[in-house]
Amino acid sequence: MRNVQCGVRNFPFRIPHSAFRIMKTKLVVIGGGPGGYAAAFLAADLGIETTLVEMETNPGGVCLYRGCIPSKALLHVAKLLNEAREAENIGLTFAEPKIDLDKMRAWKESVVAKMTGGLGQLVKARKVTYIKGRAKFASASELDIETAEGTQKLSFEHAILATGSRPAKIPAFDIGSPRIMDSTGALQLENIPATLLVVGGGYIGLELGSVYAALGTKVTVVEMTPTLLPGADRDLVKVLEGHIKTKMHAMLMETKVVSMKEVKNGVKVTFEGEKVMEKEQIFEKVLISIGRVPNSQDLGLENTRIAPDKRGFIEVDAQRRTVEPTIYAIGDIAGEPMLAHKASHEGRLAVEVIAGHNAVWEPQAIPAVVFTDPEIAWAGLTETQAEKEGRKITVSRFPWAASGRATTLDRSDGVTKIITDPETERVLGVGIAGPGAGELIAEGTLAIEMGAVASDVKLTIHPHPTLSETMMESAEVLFGQATHIHRPKK
Ligand code: FAD
Repeated sequence: MRNVQCGVRNFPFRIPHSAFRIMKTKLVVIGGGPGGYAAAFLAADLGIETTLVEMETNPGGVCLYRGCIPSKALLHVAKLLNEAREAENIGLTFAEPKIDLDKMRAWKESVVAKMTGGLGQLVKARKVTYIKGRAKFASASELDIETAEGTQKLSFEHAILATGSRPAKIPAFDIGSPRIMDSTGALQLENIPATLLVVGGGYIGLELGSVYAALGTKVTVVEMTPTLLPGADRDLVKVLEGHIKTKMHAMLMETKVVSMKEVKNGVKVTFEGEKVMEKEQIFEKVLISIGRVPNSQDLGLENTRIAPDKRGFIEVDAQRRTVEPTIYAIGDIAGEPMLAHKASHEGRLAVEVIAGHNAVWEPQAIPAVVFTDPEIAWAGLTETQAEKEGRKITVSRFPWAASGRATTLDRSDGVTKIITDPETERVLGVGIAGPGAGELIAEGTLAIEMGAVASDVKLTIHPHPTLSETMMESAEVLFGQATHIHRPKK
């Protein structure tokens, strides 16, 4: 029986006055990001009566409104600009591009609207009840939902909490200056500042910094640790560093920002660190991208037995169940890695568990992609992790200098590597640096997930000439038999 039929299903909806009684639903999903909407859609497909509560008019979450999609739209712009400039190397010279920022912004917003509007249509098509509002737990079986029309009560049998995350802040830099942005502000592309300081050398800062650099901003990146993308394998990061330092105005490694002050023509930033020459510099704008924190506050969790951990994450078991048997948590709120595809898969898993299937969270590999130029991507075991765990591995690398396709693209500085178990030759991890790495990593992820051995990859006929051949040849390297490099087996 579909109990929640009080006019809230269509956009824009109004809850009639008579509806202010306790509504009931079998499953409520709180938060319409890639975790929440994937869960709600699968639940509906499995015939579970489902309500999705989300603060925006359409689903999409951070990923579609303020994350993956708008950032990749702008990175596409950056790619066009960079490729046009680099074409000079092969005898093609374009005039400096005219940048119509209003049109560019409108295009990016149209991409977001198309995707989120499409999700809204899928909500209707699947007959998921959609409530636009902010949900809070009144107990482990009831929500209070603040809507434009007032507070609505919703009782549920199962809930999936998918409220995601938001940019982390440094209180000392929260000086109320409009020149200091987080990723959401940077994506708005208000102007092309002459100078921009990116605080944090993680993937979000590097991606957005790359966009501004391509548009003509002098971008400085400041990072406390000795390298960019702490945690990623150094050989992959090295390829990125080689490229990115030609695009950025300055990279300040092992440097700390100690203070920020708004001045007439910008933000005066004071740095601390042995490598920084100018301890005080003025930037027109500053982007703070130092990580993300889960949205676990103000959810009424005190009315349940769920207590977030010190970092704000909600602990879940292998079936994404919290300490409350009726409540599941998925996506960014349930822990690292905070990635959209991890959120969607967790959401779908929680629904399978609710549907009574024998399902458990045990991915062999969750791919990670940094959409800079070049892209870097990895899946499964990394060298860094293997070293930390004292695990024996074999690493076979294929340099893109030997790839025909990479050479035709004038991009021979990439690398593909396969990490295998020395005993069984099973593929444990894959790492790629180079244009298109984000697309290529899917093959590696599949190999790991299916328990492939290096011979499987080696014996799979890959199309020529493509960058995908670098996967096959890195498997061939393991046996000392790569066609395009001479590296005899030791
Ligand atoms: P979210 O997407 O955060 O969605 C949570 C939703 O819950 C929001 O829509 C919010 O409105 C809603 N909500 C919150 N509280 C309530 C409440 N009380 N009641 C009702 N609704 C509520 N990931 C990738 O995999 N690839 C990328 O390329 C990538 N790029 C990114 C770029 C940027 C600039 C940023 C910021 C993030 C990027 N991410 C990327 C990360 C990705 O966006 C997140 O991992 C993903 O969105 C998490 O999904 P989620 O479903 O957990 O939550």
